[in-house]
Amino acid sequence: KESLDEGLQKTKSGFFEKITKAIAGKSTVDEEVLDNLEDALVSADVGIDTTIEIIKRIEERVARDKYVGTSELNKLLQNEIENILTDTPEDSYKEFDLPEDKRPYVLLVVGVNGVGKTTTIGKLAHNYKKAGKSVLLGAADTFRAAAVDQLTIWSERVGVPIVKQAMGSDPASVAFDAVQSAVSRKSDIVIIDTAGRLHNKAHLMEELSKIKRVTQKVIPDAPHEVLLVLDGSTGQNALEQAKHFTAATDVTSLAITKLDGTAKGGVVLAIANQFKIPVKYIGVGEKMDDLLLFDKHEFVDSLFN
Ligand code: GDP
Repeated sequence: KESLDEGLQKTKSGFFEKITKAIAGKSTVDEEVLDNLEDALVSADVGIDTTIEIIKRIEERVARDKYVGTSELNKLLQNEIENILTDTPEDSYKEFDLPEDKRPYVLLVVGVNGVGKTTTIGKLAHNYKKAGKSVLLGAADTFRAAAVDQLTIWSERVGVPIVKQAMGSDPASVAFDAVQSAVSRKSDIVIIDTAGRLHNKAHLMEELSKIKRVTQKVIPDAPHEVLLVLDGSTGQNALEQAKHFTAATDVTSLAITKLDGTAKGGVVLAIANQFKIPVKYIGVGEKMDDLLLFDKHEFVDSLFN
């Protein structure tokens, strides 16, 4: 909770400054307050569609309850934001746990270079290891030497094995090796890094499908999770990337990184609302312990209190 509060500090102060300005000098919630609030939410990177939805819900409440003071507006806003997050299909995650019937649990990690994908994989390895799970990494981003090197450094830092091949080898072949190795080592979880080049959707789709197919040769219901990593500090860009990746493959969960360095944390709301894919992890710093399981109640509480 402490690292969450700390990590969201910039978003929180940006958000509140705007909301406070939106309602300054007003005693009741009228059209002007709602207009200002709308501007405030959009500029906090909540996104147009999600903002309109929140404003509409508040308007309905104001119409129903006749008189709503600006002091109640905060509470109302907090409720509606939680509702937006609650609308995601899965409930929030409480701990770094794995389903009993899926061993090894195959976790495929996708995302554009630079968003914090490697760091997130390192943090995941650390957290699952800390939770008593045996972890294996698969370096299937074979297009960048740096990607394999970075992942190797993380594997040493965390103290978990890594499966890799020479630069330029077939990513699907690395994924296959990694899953097979996880089976023979009886690992609890295998986390597979993938290349995140964005320029060609057909190619991305084909490559991810191929990786999925080969993992299914070893474990028929793999991958159990396809985690898309997005950089929260890029605001609306993150939404664009989410569109791109969800069109290319079935993304089942999201990690939103770098929320500590930004006032654009409102993008979490936009992403959760638009894609209806659960936000599972958030990154709030560069260190191993700076990956948190996303809990919508804690998140909203942190923003408002
Ligand atoms: P990749 O290219 O997507 O694999 O990105 P990296 O994992 O190499 O991360 C890019 C940079 O972002 C590195 O300097 C990381 O330390 C940094 N980074 C990753 N996640 C976070 C985060 O949650 N907060 C902050 N402040 N920095 C992060």
